[in-house]
Amino acid sequence: MQPQLIFLGAPGSGKGTQATRLIKECGYQHLSTGDLLRKEVKEASELGKRVTAIMNAGKLVDDNTVLELLKKNTDLASGAYIFDGFPRNGDQAKLLDEVVLKGSNSKAVYFEIDLDLLFDRLVNRRTCGKCGEIYNLKFKAPAQAGVCDKCGSTELNQRKDDVAETVKHRLDVFKETIEPVLKHYESEGRLVRLDASNGSDEVFSSLKSLI
Ligand code: AMP
Repeated sequence: MQPQLIFLGAPGSGKGTQATRLIKECGYQHLSTGDLLRKEVKEASELGKRVTAIMNAGKLVDDNTVLELLKKNTDLASGAYIFDGFPRNGDQAKLLDEVVLKGSNSKAVYFEIDLDLLFDRLVNRRTCGKCGEIYNLKFKAPAQAGVCDKCGSTELNQRKDDVAETVKHRLDVFKETIEPVLKHYESEGRLVRLDASNGSDEVFSSLKSLI
């Protein structure tokens, strides 16, 4: 069976884009805690209402809330997952092992990139509300402004937490919390590092050779 993959990296480091490519080619399932939380917010569920302000401020939601959501949406018997956006701190790394992975074969991939490059990537990011295709107004703009190349939708949205002030905060939170997560996987020889500053195709071929 393919190893369970744990994608680590700053917001905007390309984890989501590479996960989408890997899923298409290798049949993984994508589990993004950010996506699960945004779905709850959109549906205005009780959980969604509780986390809206926290997410819009670029802060981390409490570990238990995210873990419960993760557990509810994971079924390891159905195949291998890409965990994207979880763990975000050392405690979550332990919880993922103890409560979800429970000794199954897994590998963490760290998308390494100079954090100064990410501000521009994030504030210019737009996502198609219909098919989920991700654009960047500076680096990967749609052929026709405001129209999705893939499905023709004119719903190219900016995430609420991709505005300048919140982006700064999210990058600060990442800097403050990532070290214990890397140590957790490194000490057990489960960490591989990937240069995420290259173009998408190059990153994708390095990713495939690493896993
Ligand atoms: P992301 O899409 O991974 O950038 O996550 C967007 C937002 O969702 C984050 O800024 C947090 O507010 C929240 N979030 C996602 N995953 C987690 C997590 N593992 N722990 C705490 N908060 C999370």
